[in-house]
Amino acid sequence: SEPVLTVRGLNVDYGTGDGAVHALRDIDLTLHRGEVLGLAGESGSGKSTLAYAVTRLLSPPGVITGGGVHYHRRDGGALDLLALSAAELRAFRWQELSIVFQGAMNSLNPVHTVHSQLTDVLRAHRPELGRPERTARARELLALVGISADRLAAYPHQLSGGMRQRVMIAMALALEPEIVIMDEPTTALDVVMQRQILRQLVRLREELGFSVVFITHDISLLIEFSDRIAIMYGGRIVEEAAAPAIYRDPRHPYSDGLLHSFPALHGPRRELTGIPGSPPHLSAMPAGCAFHPRCGKAVDACATQVPALAAPDGDASRTVACWLHHPAPATAATAPPRP
Ligand code: SF4
Ligand code: MG
Repeated sequence: SEPVLTVRGLNVDYGTGDGAVHALRDIDLTLHRGEVLGLAGESGSGKSTLAYAVTRLLSPPGVITGGGVHYHRRDGGALDLLALSAAELRAFRWQELSIVFQGAMNSLNPVHTVHSQLTDVLRAHRPELGRPERTARARELLALVGISADRLAAYPHQLSGGMRQRVMIAMALALEPEIVIMDEPTTALDVVMQRQILRQLVRLREELGFSVVFITHDISLLIEFSDRIAIMYGGRIVEEAAAPAIYRDPRHPYSDGLLHSFPALHGPRRELTGIPGSPPHLSAMPAGCAFHPRCGKAVDACATQVPALAAPDGDASRTVACWLHHPAPATAATAPPRP
């Protein structure tokens, strides 16, 4: 299907000059219309930075140092998101793209009712709607996320965490955006509530036709709710494939490790072996493949050469950045230069 958001060669640094560290490198990503794209990786892998960068919410010391982000309208036109003015961005954000952040349920205003917070969004962006129409729309939005209309009069503290999070999702959907980005949207909730909310979101996506970027460290949730999954490590995408392909046949040793870090929901039990060691700090990113200090399969090239994200032999449906799947270049260790 057609793309709705494309990211090409995106680089983000924290800081400038000598103190700059690379937070994102060479990010290529396409979100297709109507799909749920999952972004996985341990904390510090760059998932949230990517969400902030593509939505232009990155704040200093984070700076975009290269690459492009384009939004593709249904009429075929494309919008260069990195070139939008502040005013254009404000309009773009709620109407075309909205974001639900981790702990968003705590960002509801404690002194305003659900009704006033939902109708505020509508008043700001849909001036043509009168008061009764705004209220009707607020009811409709609550119904979308499975909350009864009598909760409109409630204050945030009168709602459970799960309900508050669903109110935030209702707000994100208020202006019928094409893209909803969810950054760890359910991490603070219990497992049953997490699945209930995500199931609802996927159903809404089918009804309303928006696309979702779903970010979480919990790859078992991504396997269950995403169409495709991109796995990040050390500020790069290291593997991307359809969710079932990642689950059945992970090609990158890090993807394999992540899959073994969570209990499987369905299918055969996996041994929870996890991944030895911990993810690198941005300020001390290992050379070559950033995963090499933790990788049980490293070859000579891994410590010095960054593997490109490319299709492995004979499978154009996926990409992987690992020397096990691409012809490794000669390295100093295997081909010493002649003096
Ligand atoms: Fe392991 Fe080398 Fe592949 Fe990196 S490139 S994941 S170190 S085998
Ligand atoms: Mg994060």
